[in-house]
Amino acid sequence: MITALGGGVGAAKFLEGLSAVIGSEPLNAVVNTGDDVTLHGLRVSPDVDTVIYRLSGHVDRQRGWGLEEDTFRCLSALSRLGGETWFNIGDSDFATHIFRTHLRAGGVTATETASKIAAAFGLPGNIKVLPMTDDDVETWIETPEGEMHFQEYLVKKRMRPEVLGVVLKNIENAAPTPAVLDAIRGARGIIICPSNPIISIGPILGLGRVRDAIMESGARKIAISPLIGDAPLKGPADRLMKGLGLRVTSVQVAELYRDFLDVMIIDTRDAHEADEIKNLGIEPLVTDILMPVPERAAALARAVTALL
Ligand code: GDP
Ligand code: CA
Repeated sequence: MITALGGGVGAAKFLEGLSAVIGSEPLNAVVNTGDDVTLHGLRVSPDVDTVIYRLSGHVDRQRGWGLEEDTFRCLSALSRLGGETWFNIGDSDFATHIFRTHLRAGGVTATETASKIAAAFGLPGNIKVLPMTDDDVETWIETPEGEMHFQEYLVKKRMRPEVLGVVLKNIENAAPTPAVLDAIRGARGIIICPSNPIISIGPILGLGRVRDAIMESGARKIAISPLIGDAPLKGPADRLMKGLGLRVTSVQVAELYRDFLDVMIIDTRDAHEADEIKNLGIEPLVTDILMPVPERAAALARAVTALL
């Protein structure tokens, strides 16, 4: 059994490769829910859906999120009504959020809801997509314009405001699910996906007991850097890291996982950082970590599984 921690697009790209190389071995994807947001009265869980859509073969590959061949008529209709339309939701994607909101309102957990959605989309039976918690956690960004939900910062404000801080709301009251803890404790390998270390991996590790469970586990613990040439491929990892006073390097990412990490995988372009990673007591592996197509993700996944 392999357990991977991740967020949205970066995680989903890698997990697609991993699922192609592990055969029928059980794979648990523990997914960040700090990006969850309520829009139009609907609970949207972008990272969970991104992972389910990609691993079931239904993702819009061009965008990396949302459903293939989706249309946006509902959003246009909402715009005519004066609704807020800065967050793009396709028509078929809306159905997922309506379904989730309805179930959650009836007391069904995030975990059970994700499992139902995954089954409906035909996720392979050996893969489980596990929301990190059944409690509500939201990532908010502190900026000179005030505090705003991460999605508002990312999508509505297009990452323009300066980042002064990151607040994980309600994280202190949220618990990892039993399924998440079991997935960590039972794994022979724990993989930190090439996801944003602050707002994708950070919330998962921020849940009480998750970090301890990882440290106590006898599994091999491997992380893949989300930075190539010391920059994210897309998204705000650099802005968030800088905003928190961190360096934007793979060494810095490794340092964030230093208390439990065995191996840090970095790109050939960042090979010069290998020695510094070794000095942290973490084994560096230098290889091609860019995943423009599923074949390259599978090649990276093979390099990872070879270490287990
Ligand atoms: P998000 O919710 O969509 O931001 O999902 P993640 O946190 O899982 O992924 C964002 C991170 O994925 C960014 O920091 C990117 O640099 C990283 N990423 C995207 N594509 C690739 C890739 O092909 N290779 C690697 N190593 N990282 C990638
Ligand atoms: Ca995300």
